[in-house]
Amino acid sequence: MVKTKKLSEIRKKIENNSAIVLTVQELLDRISSGKKVKFEDVDIVTTATKGLMSGIMGIFSFRLSPPKTLRKFTEVNMNGIPAFPGPCPNEYLGIVDLIIYGTTQSRTIDNYCGGSLFREIVEGKSVEISAKSAEGDTIEREMKLEDMQFAKLAGTRQAIKNYNAMINCETYKVNTIFSCLPFSPNKAEITFSGCGALNPFQNDPEFESFGVGSPVLVNGAIGHLMGSGTRNYIEKPNMMTIAPFEGMKPEYMGAFKTSFGLEPICSLALPIPILNENIFNNIVKSDNIVKLSILSLVGREKVGEITYGDVWDNNFLMKFNPDACKNCEECKAIDKCPTNAFIVKSGMISAIDRSRCFNCGNCTHLCPEAFILELKTIKFEGNDIPIVLRQSDRHGAILLAEQLKSMILKGEFPIRKPISKLRFAKTVK
Ligand code: SF4
Ligand code: SF4
Repeated sequence: MVKTKKLSEIRKKIENNSAIVLTVQELLDRISSGKKVKFEDVDIVTTATKGLMSGIMGIFSFRLSPPKTLRKFTEVNMNGIPAFPGPCPNEYLGIVDLIIYGTTQSRTIDNYCGGSLFREIVEGKSVEISAKSAEGDTIEREMKLEDMQFAKLAGTRQAIKNYNAMINCETYKVNTIFSCLPFSPNKAEITFSGCGALNPFQNDPEFESFGVGSPVLVNGAIGHLMGSGTRNYIEKPNMMTIAPFEGMKPEYMGAFKTSFGLEPICSLALPIPILNENIFNNIVKSDNIVKLSILSLVGREKVGEITYGDVWDNNFLMKFNPDACKNCEECKAIDKCPTNAFIVKSGMISAIDRSRCFNCGNCTHLCPEAFILELKTIKFEGNDIPIVLRQSDRHGAILLAEQLKSMILKGEFPIRKPISKLRFAKTVK
């Protein structure tokens, strides 16, 4: 007989402080140390992902002028990033509703995109707003999150069921969102994305535990899952979420500089209540069983397949060794951090801002003496190909899964049934 557990029983256990909640990483660590974990041993598993998520946008509404003073706003920029005013015109109200993309670059600040703006808003910084009315008047304001009537982050396509590794099969370097430095030619290096065993969809492949209306932790704030996202299909599901900026933590957000522009960073965590043995059996027990396709960078055809066990192996956190810099004449890494995580003093990297570091390994690739991180090597067509960049931050995802666990145990995160199941297309049209 299939063993089951009711959601109400799990909730009761949370109230009684007897619920057993594990992050997927804790489960993996127990299993790899030889311990057996059974259905009865866990009530909820927390999953998470932290990576580049191009499909995020900020939705804002705030007052820029008194009522009756102008008809509507036709142009709005936030820290120089052009927004889309509307859809509501809010005629004669002096209020603007707007949407701003995470990928849009600022016209006034170098290396600054919507992802950078969202992080600064959460950090409590002032935003410079410049708006034009239909009458041609220009209005300029400084505003903080607390001054805004409405500020939420939404995503069209998030927590994709893992992603791919990339290799450049061409004979020339390529500037691309899949590398920080121009991508070397002739199959010389590999980059990859995806948090592997920690990914929410990887752990709920039959969409049994979360769905439309489920609470979700977005960058540390409680939001909701709206439904399946764009370009979804059953093999590569993704989700749309919405969450308030208020309560988010900057360390889960920001921008990542690739060789083809900036991409926004976003992090999500979801709980999986272990309601039956099927759900428990589907929880990933090893990165070695999560497949990772290698794609040719130009054209995206599949040229190989490895697993996330080949790329993730308790090698999550980059460690900095400043002693290595003592005898160095010229730093080859100083301006090459994609998240601006280097703290520079007297022209030298003195420390790492851990709230910005993405553990991507770009610095390690440039200077392995100072930046200690085991970036793996992949066997491909008989050759050893080095991984030079990781575009997902498994360490950050583990921290968010731990935050979710802590919130669940304290009764601060609701454990609820979804309103309806997520549906996905059979194929991409
Ligand atoms: S980070 Fe590396 S290249 Fe830069 S100063 Fe230190 S040892 Fe030299
Ligand atoms: S691992 Fe290095 S290059 Fe990557 S974000 Fe951290 S400090 Fe920057």
